[in-house]
Amino acid sequence: VSLTVIRSAEEFRLHCRSLAERGPLGFVPTMGALHSGHVALMRYASQQTRSVAVSIFVNPTQFGPTEDLARYPRTLEADCAACEDAGVELVFAPDAAQMYPAGDQTRVRAGALATGLCGASRPHHFEGVCTVVAKLFALAGPCLAVFGRKDYQQWKVVQRLARDLFLPVQVHGHPIVREPDGLAMSSRNRYLSEEQRGQALGLIAGLRQANRRFQHGERQVEELVRACRERVEDHGLRIDYVELVDAEELQPLSQVTDSGGLLAVAAFAGSTRLIDNCVLGQEAP
Ligand code: AMP
Repeated sequence: VSLTVIRSAEEFRLHCRSLAERGPLGFVPTMGALHSGHVALMRYASQQTRSVAVSIFVNPTQFGPTEDLARYPRTLEADCAACEDAGVELVFAPDAAQMYPAGDQTRVRAGALATGLCGASRPHHFEGVCTVVAKLFALAGPCLAVFGRKDYQQWKVVQRLARDLFLPVQVHGHPIVREPDGLAMSSRNRYLSEEQRGQALGLIAGLRQANRRFQHGERQVEELVRACRERVEDHGLRIDYVELVDAEELQPLSQVTDSGGLLAVAAFAGSTRLIDNCVLGQEAP
């Protein structure tokens, strides 16, 4: 099977339709600068389906005015090679004018799932995500879409989007893929200096510390959050948030039960914003 690279939205729609005629279609939306985390999603998708499509689009509407849209890494050639290696049949790499042609004005607004965590510090982020994902799902048609749980809130928001809009898309969440030292893989890791790369380990150190405390019986939210914050700050990161919320609706927890909750962290190494999370008691980070 060889890789087809498409830039036009209408052609993407037609190719997806013809792939779907042969059997279940997998779909992995990305912003490119692909790494082994993305590849794991593609391989998972291809185990579940007959053929896999990947989109590569740095979506301007999900970036805030002071964020890294302009400098976001763009590595299309290497990305296509990685897709081909992973057995992907179709890459959709539109430009902004394909996804937002002249006259475009509709936006998709998420609900309560999107207001806390990253939604609090990135006010229009999830509106941008929901809008572009709705457009991509409309083009892809019936499929199994795979999202990473590194962006846990995004995964939940997109799952709800598909359900609420009756889109014929199943949304699966893939576990976080990490570097050998525990850092969650991210396209933004390329921004890190050597020193910041060391600081970035504060995220996993914080999650592991809180998870250990949880396993030893700690159930107080403030205490678990404090344990995490302490490690993150010790590493020289500047915290955006550390929060413990229920893992389904993402609302703040006052009490942790044995079934745990989602511990989510966002922090800056220099000007690079990094996120990570774990579900306490379910998976050791
Ligand atoms: P991005 O290109 O950063 O928008 O990511 C595209 C998809 O890959 C999203 O569903 C991400 O959650 C997922 N992803 C990115 N990094 C990882 C990772 N380290 N582990 C699992 N999924 C990831």
